[in-house]
Amino acid sequence: MRLTFCGAAREVGRSAILLEAGKRLMLDYGVKLGARSEYPMPLQGSIDAYILSHAHLDHCGSAPLLYETANVPCFTTYPTEALSSLLIRDSMKVARMRGEQVPFSSFSLKKYESAFIPLGFRKPFQLSGDVRLTLLDAGHIPGSAMVEVYAEHKRVLYTGDLKLEPTRLHAGADLEEKVDILIMESTYSDTDHPERSKLEKQLVKEIRETIEQGGIALLPSFAVGRSQELLIVLSELLPEAEVWLDGMSKTATQIVSDYPSYLRDANALRKAIRNTDMVETEAQRRKATSAPGVIVSSAGMLDGGPAISYLLRLNELSKIILTGYQIEGTNARSLLETGIVNVDGIPTQIKLPVKYLDMSAHAGRSELLKLVKKANPEKIFCIHGDACEAFAQELCGMGYEAYAPAMGNTFEV
Ligand SMILES: [Zn+2]
Ligand SMILES: [Zn+2]
Repeated sequence: MRLTFCGAAREVGRSAILLEAGKRLMLDYGVKLGARSEYPMPLQGSIDAYILSHAHLDHCGSAPLLYETANVPCFTTYPTEALSSLLIRDSMKVARMRGEQVPFSSFSLKKYESAFIPLGFRKPFQLSGDVRLTLLDAGHIPGSAMVEVYAEHKRVLYTGDLKLEPTRLHAGADLEEKVDILIMESTYSDTDHPERSKLEKQLVKEIRETIEQGGIALLPSFAVGRSQELLIVLSELLPEAEVWLDGMSKTATQIVSDYPSYLRDANALRKAIRNTDMVETEAQRRKATSAPGVIVSSAGMLDGGPAISYLLRLNELSKIILTGYQIEGTNARSLLETGIVNVDGIPTQIKLPVKYLDMSAHAGRSELLKLVKKANPEKIFCIHGDACEAFAQELCGMGYEAYAPAMGNTFEV
């Protein structure tokens, strides 16, 4: 069996791993977003299947590139099929608005969208006589999967992105015992996140204070996962608050609620949606900013979407609360560090208080170590992180055979 790391090697972004074991399988094919988009290593030769862990663009954003030449099935979960299309189509829109070139044609995107073969969790699929594919719940965002490939009498587990700690949306990753080869995300290999329940309480306290003094709490949120989680937290812990939902978060919430079996508590989301006002018109947007309340809106990093326009419309008693990871070079990171955001090319000072709460959808350090201990693999490949080498070294120190592959590295395993 051969593994080639075509992206997410000692970095976060453009996840892409080529697994060759009789069949040639591409696990994820994402994009690295930043000041300019970066893509995985171009595909050499053909593949037999594309397997997608989840809908985030760093895992699927370059997938249509594969379909410029290939005509292969794409195995993923039911929600990911719909969410991946939503996010890729939105990224094309954003790229065009910025005057950037989209590296694939609409025809390839359509080919990709018609290639989906959705699989349920723990429903093994025989790719060939001796290659078997199983998707396991990764607990990261709705529909997110860990990919298990059984071939050549070896069990390979690719985590995609995962979270073990339960959240309002997910019960936590469905961990596997005894894996031969573990390819794991390492985003937070050196950090633990604060306990979720404490963060929720802090969030509610911040919002309550803001509303009581007459302000609006703006929660710029990732459309998939975070927006739905926040709606549930608000409906459970702050039911009296007026909550508005805007941007792509609305469509994502609709898709997520269409697949209740992928949620920990689908009723909680249904109830939260009933407690939420969807912003559909400019008049509603004005209403949302005219009285104390909460606005949940994409984009989570304030690059596009209505969230950025709200920044300029809030009264001076309002507050901005960021709950997600902020990539360097994004408006949200700049807002947090300097108070300045870029609105239509114009640097604009935002004078409102900004609060950051680390409500990560990724496993923290202790969770990653728990995963390693349980899987007890013969070989570990640490990817999707800024400290992969240090983490692999640390794992070696614990007696594991661990690697932090560089871009393009191939391993016979
Ligand atoms: Zn992700
Ligand atoms: Zn990722």
